Amino acid sequence: MTLPHLFSPLALRGATFRNRIFSTGHQTCLVKDGRVTEDLVAYHRARARGGAALIVVEAARMHESAVSDAPIIDASRDDCIPGYRAIAQAVQPEGCRLFAQLAHPGRVTLRLRDGLRGPTYSASTVPDNRFKNVPRQLSTDEIADIVASYGRAAARFQEAGLDGVEVTASHGVLPAQFLNPKVNLRSDDYGGPLENRIRFLTETIASIRRQVGPDMIVGLRISLDEMERDGLTRDQAIAGCRLLAEQDGLDYFNVIAGSMAGARGSIHVVPPMAIEHGYLAPAAAELKAAVDRPVFVAGRINQPQIAERIIAQGQADMCGMTRAMIADPEMAAKAAAGRFDDIRACIGCNQACIGHFHSGLPISCIQHPETGRERRFADKPAARPSKRIVVAGGGPAGMKAAAVAAERGHAVTLYEAARQLGGQTRLAQTLPGRAEFGGIIANLEREMALAGVEVRTGQALTREAVLALAPDAVILATGATPLRPRIEGAEEAHLVDAWQVLRGEANPGAAVLIADWRCDWIGMGLAEHLVRAGCHVRLAVDGTCPGENLQSYLRDHWAGVLHGLGVEVIPYARLFGADADHAYLEHTVTSAPIVCEGVDTVVLAQGHRPVTELEQALDGLSIELRPVGDCLSPRTAEEAVYEGMVAGLEL
Ligand code: SF4
Repeated sequence: MTLPHLFSPLALRGATFRNRIFSTGHQTCLVKDGRVTEDLVAYHRARARGGAALIVVEAARMHESAVSDAPIIDASRDDCIPGYRAIAQAVQPEGCRLFAQLAHPGRVTLRLRDGLRGPTYSASTVPDNRFKNVPRQLSTDEIADIVASYGRAAARFQEAGLDGVEVTASHGVLPAQFLNPKVNLRSDDYGGPLENRIRFLTETIASIRRQVGPDMIVGLRISLDEMERDGLTRDQAIAGCRLLAEQDGLDYFNVIAGSMAGARGSIHVVPPMAIEHGYLAPAAAELKAAVDRPVFVAGRINQPQIAERIIAQGQADMCGMTRAMIADPEMAAKAAAGRFDDIRACIGCNQACIGHFHSGLPISCIQHPETGRERRFADKPAARPSKRIVVAGGGPAGMKAAAVAAERGHAVTLYEAARQLGGQTRLAQTLPGRAEFGGIIANLEREMALAGVEVRTGQALTREAVLALAPDAVILATGATPLRPRIEGAEEAHLVDAWQVLRGEANPGAAVLIADWRCDWIGMGLAEHLVRAGCHVRLAVDGTCPGENLQSYLRDHWAGVLHGLGVEVIPYARLFGADADHAYLEHTVTSAPIVCEGVDTVVLAQGHRPVTELEQALDGLSIELRPVGDCLSPRTAEEAVYEGMVAGLEL
């Protein structure tokens, strides 16, 4: 299968893009002290080398009022130029175009420098609902200063050799605050009718065009629907775009959805797995029909076949496939070569990309730990000497270890006790809205096949079997099983664990209490699964809220689903006892009892215990042992894959 539309070139203001795949501007935490780092250069070089036609570098600030405590490139100073030039010199020789992005958050920013909350700025004094800022209304002099600063920053990008610059009006940032009549309550030339509310953007684009002249591409990223009650609507956004398209200065529109001003809109900043693939293509098509400029679109476009359909149907001209290339930097090149089965598709888990960023850490991918660590894991050195390696366990840790070790030239055989590979991932994919999680298994199976791993399923290893195989090393990836803490009255109660429920072995009653210790996918997923099965569900969490340990967009989306289904949530609650029709909890702060009556089934989601029996059985043999993943310490698929990769590299 070929993808002729996706791999056709696009011409824009004299520049040619080799295909229709681009990386949208996204924060990486690979920035230090406001400057581009060598890690950021290496990160983008990998995507350019992997076939992307365009990279939009992450949002940069252009003015001192554009405040953030997250690492952000400071394009308000000339010393940003060498960093941008370094990225340009890394990606352009690979055939990839490079744009910068400018974003002023206005009122949607978390903290200011040194942890202090200083003033935030907006069109008017209208608070946001997420960061809880009450912004200060910008004066016309301040507006003029900010507008001019966009132009000066763009001139720096031009000096650095970039191909274009993108203004961000998406996700409820400052230009969108001017455009939105519910946020912009001004009565001067910047408020009131659309012609005035769009003025901030028309002046900004004119300021940039004045500075860079006719040669540089200038685009606008905009949320066509902010998905918030007081957010910008699609009609308002498209009306604004129509006016902007009357200007000569603007070359393209880049469509997204959502707003950082509230929980609902924020979900669309990086839409999680439960959101449909390519869901914004119809909105892009509507804009495309309204303006005579190219329209770019993003939003869960994780496979080239989806992008091909969007381009072929004329819904958009370029497809943003950012996470697709975080998960597989070579996605575009593999698609161009027709190697579709070799693409490591993003599964929309949000765990290591936006999840890391929200933790203030460099972005990565749970499936591809090299992302964000390109310089550290640049090479996979050939095995010297080649060893015979046995891998015990076919979950993500074992599969990744086997694939990497075999790719380096070791002779690797993987043994899995179950008849199918995947370990806990196979159960995780049965949770509602999590089917795509099983993509990890398919991706790792393919990596193993390409590397030449011999796979034996339905075979559990024993000490005797290992002795007979006489390997040079054993990678232990034996995983974990559900932890069952001591529960008072357990003999009278109907206690089941999460795995039993997901395997259909639990026979839950009509009134279920889920005791969720980890506050992650399992508790929320079980709650949705059981309530949809007709149970009355109480979700007792040993934390402040369900999904406390999940990436916030994923958690918030799921919280909305559970609320809509009528799941009762009990926060700060730890299970200590149960009987035939009660669950006994204690408040985690006060130890006060919380008695839940009318509970006929208690579902334990109490974490896992490592499976170490094989490790103990092999102890004392003169064979190198390397435990990885949950058998080392139960955590998540991310740690499992990372540790598997490192073991495969180090043996
Ligand atoms: Fe995709 Fe998950 Fe990787 Fe992020 S961490 S790029 S969502 S697979």
